[in-house]
Amino acid sequence: MNLRLNTNLKSEASSLQFSYVAVVLIILLAVVTSADAIGQGTSGQVFKAGAATSVITPNIGTTMNGNMKAIVIKQVHDETYARALVLDDGKTKLAIVVTDLCMVSKEVCDEAKQGAQRITGIPAENMMISATHTHSSGTACGVFGSEPDEEYLKFLTVRIRDAVIRANNNLAPARIGWGVGSESTQVHNRRWKLKPGVTSMNPFGQSETVKMNPGRNHDITEPAGPIDPGLPIISVQTPEGRPVALFANYSLHYVGGTGSGELSADYYGYFAERMKTLLDAENKEPAFVAMMSNGTSGDINNVVVRGPRGPEYGEYGKMQQVANVVAAEAYKVYQNIQYQNWISLSSVQRELNLGVRLPEKSDIDRAKGILAKLNGSERNTQEEAYAHETMMLSKYPKTVPVILQAFRLGDLAITAAPCEVFVEIGLKMKEKSPFMPTFMVSLANGYNGYLPTPEHHKLGGYETWRARSSYLEVNASTKITQNIFEMLAKLKSEQAK
Ligand SMILES: [Zn+2]
Repeated sequence: MNLRLNTNLKSEASSLQFSYVAVVLIILLAVVTSADAIGQGTSGQVFKAGAATSVITPNIGTTMNGNMKAIVIKQVHDETYARALVLDDGKTKLAIVVTDLCMVSKEVCDEAKQGAQRITGIPAENMMISATHTHSSGTACGVFGSEPDEEYLKFLTVRIRDAVIRANNNLAPARIGWGVGSESTQVHNRRWKLKPGVTSMNPFGQSETVKMNPGRNHDITEPAGPIDPGLPIISVQTPEGRPVALFANYSLHYVGGTGSGELSADYYGYFAERMKTLLDAENKEPAFVAMMSNGTSGDINNVVVRGPRGPEYGEYGKMQQVANVVAAEAYKVYQNIQYQNWISLSSVQRELNLGVRLPEKSDIDRAKGILAKLNGSERNTQEEAYAHETMMLSKYPKTVPVILQAFRLGDLAITAAPCEVFVEIGLKMKEKSPFMPTFMVSLANGYNGYLPTPEHHKLGGYETWRARSSYLEVNASTKITQNIFEMLAKLKSEQAK
């Protein structure tokens, strides 16, 4: 735009015999304006961004993730996507992908990253692929009743790879900014302490004093932990101010998912659509992409246990209502974002080997006894589901690799762990990080189950029950947190150089 104006002015100048000084002044003005407008930093580097989506909806008849029992997909309510954002500071590229999945395995992520690296040149360790934790998605990870379909895994891997490639193809000069909102009305700690003397039996035959989703009739006293109302958003625009992408993070486990067999991206999908409407970014070229990543929501849900519950919206109405409330706060933050024409990017990745809480022989014998009584019929009770999980875990190695990441975008940091991270861990990271703001993406780059703190392991409850959904050593959160703080410190010291 500026370039064309510049050329036209030059030709007009020669034909109309403008004075030499006037032409020089106009050219200088155009050059200054265009340098500012194309997203250059003071040292001349150009900041670029590209975003794209890639459909990952599985076939009807394949399995659905997120339920205790085996559920088959019967209907597609709304399409599911891999939503990707690639950022480029001229030296370093980072790719951030959010997938509408309950969880995504390390194998799928690794292969998708390798494929994307081969074509884009972006190093695999500079790619962060996370799952939103919708409980009505295709199965990308075997847990409880759902096992993945091999054909779907192949399709999914290529589609995630393509999201990165397509976002990379869309790279264009951009500006970036961020802000942090607060929305406390949609998040509740879902673990409740039972009244003194009251206990609850877990599926392993042990009594506990904490209960997840206790319902209204339980003898409960107070939540066993805090909430995190934080809503960080990163906005990417063209130099002229047209929205390119919006990346958000909120610590809410999920909203819908009744096990009806209807596939849906849950409130994460509705949020993306709502932001498109609010920012007047529909039907743009290339398409605007909004994405909501899962924060540290391992012990957080959207269920009001005490106090007024508000109107009933139905499953999809509820997802939409939550999305609208969160999007309204995101939009408020959006209005006040200060944009930077250029920021530096960096990242660090570590792979830890963490211990597995393997079942002992007595656990395996008990599980075998429970499953033998089933005589081949479907597993119905929690006890049976966890007996099956005990047998699956008995085949696990003593340690597993766990990938941790920290991305730095200017003075902002995004950390990532392949777990359903408890809210306490995310709050600590936000408070003690050398970067402001910092936030954490859960369920990223693989799936290693819940990440309760050692204190929560002592209390027990669903999130600590040994299964493929919770199997890391009791001190895993301590080790993960310590490593991430070391990684943040490394990014900080490199930034200072
Ligand atoms: Zn979960």
